[in-house]
Amino acid sequence: MEILDGVLEEFQKLAAIPRKSGEEKRVSDFLKTYLTEQGFHVVQDEVNNIIADAPATPGFEQAPRTILQGHMDMVCVAEDGYAYDPLRDPIKLVRSEKYLEAEGTSLGADDGIGVAEGLYLLKHAKDHGPLRLIVTVDEERGMTGAIHLAPKYLQDAKFLINCDSENYDELTVGSAGSVDLTFRRALKYEAAPEGKAYRLSVGGLLGGHSGERIGDGRGNALRTLAFLLQALSRQGRIALADFHGGKAHNAIPDTAEACFLTQIPQEEISQILTAEKEKFLAIYGAVDPSVEFVLQETEAPERVLIPGDAQRLLRLLLLLHTGVFAMSTVIPSLVETSANLGVVRMEDDVVSVEYFPRSAVDGKLDEFAAEARILGDLVGFEAVVGTKSPGWKENKKSVLAKMMAEVFEEQNGKPMKVETIHAGLECGWHFGKNPQLDMVSIGVTTQDIHSPNERLVLATVEPQVRLIEEALRRIAKL
Ligand SMILES: [Zn+2]
Repeated sequence: MEILDGVLEEFQKLAAIPRKSGEEKRVSDFLKTYLTEQGFHVVQDEVNNIIADAPATPGFEQAPRTILQGHMDMVCVAEDGYAYDPLRDPIKLVRSEKYLEAEGTSLGADDGIGVAEGLYLLKHAKDHGPLRLIVTVDEERGMTGAIHLAPKYLQDAKFLINCDSENYDELTVGSAGSVDLTFRRALKYEAAPEGKAYRLSVGGLLGGHSGERIGDGRGNALRTLAFLLQALSRQGRIALADFHGGKAHNAIPDTAEACFLTQIPQEEISQILTAEKEKFLAIYGAVDPSVEFVLQETEAPERVLIPGDAQRLLRLLLLLHTGVFAMSTVIPSLVETSANLGVVRMEDDVVSVEYFPRSAVDGKLDEFAAEARILGDLVGFEAVVGTKSPGWKENKKSVLAKMMAEVFEEQNGKPMKVETIHAGLECGWHFGKNPQLDMVSIGVTTQDIHSPNERLVLATVEPQVRLIEEALRRIAKL
């Protein structure tokens, strides 16, 4: 009980400060002041990352340095209708017997609880070598804190424990890299032709995080909608006025919508949609059975895309394969390479299409970038190659992973699941700066993160802190 209350006390301090990604100045200043007051040596770097050093406890000065790492920003979302200003309002905590939750909003246990554990351990861990807490900014949007972190803070340490995972009994030892690809084209419009105007939407899909769910074979709303429009255009002209959908490059799109004019009779359109739905269900029905195609008459738009631009967009969407490209040849049932068609947006007469490949094999990301340029040329889009995030390659000889798994089993009487994941972690950037750094990623059990239902399983806090404490003790005695 003592450990849990101690960690939650730290967590409360963080929950009181608004800390949306990109808006971390206040929480970063708080951490700087708070940790300085506790007597630690603190650096706040130019992007507001916090690096706090604690000396070894007496007798362990010669031990290798260990870094505890988490991120201070959080995803701020609220229930529909709940009044919440993420730049001003603190998170209101609700504690029940089993869970810690927030009233109406996301909780920010991702990754506030990881940071709270770090603060607690810096103050209370008994036997340890030199210890460093690194708290980064902006993990959730693009890992810019980890990207800008000076390599020197990673190069004088031997071990790093990242505290940003989601299950207390899982030990992550590797993660995938990724590359941001965007296809862009300035659109040309013409006056709307004769015909009836419709909105066609695809919905009812499961969607999900592309790093975690791409292997499930779920449907992609954007591609599905492109196939529907292509099927319709075989019956007559579809004059496209709008096409958009998807929430983020790393989320499988669960909805998409198009607006078009056509002279194809409505009954015929409905028949085609029914046939297309059967085709969809034959491919994806086992995992995504609740798909819905909704056709509604709408007010006629004033202008539509010129036929060539509409065709270019559909061609691009139909050619961008989305889903799994390759499974790992080393680790059973792990996706090695995938890509997600995440977002189509039309703004200021420019269409942008976000495509997000991930791979455990770095060279394959370069292949994607090269292919994107060729595809862009062929279809008439500019291909923009954005940030390439490095993967974190599993180290089979990791001393830390072995030690943590052993300690967990001793303390909890069951083995820890050791895994490499297909999602990305800040560890990828750390690995790029110091490939010798022996790393693991762990986390208190949290559920429904990035949603207003986010909650933390209280019973997993103490075992996690004990695990880290004991690992620090063993490292000190190495
Ligand atoms: Zn996180």
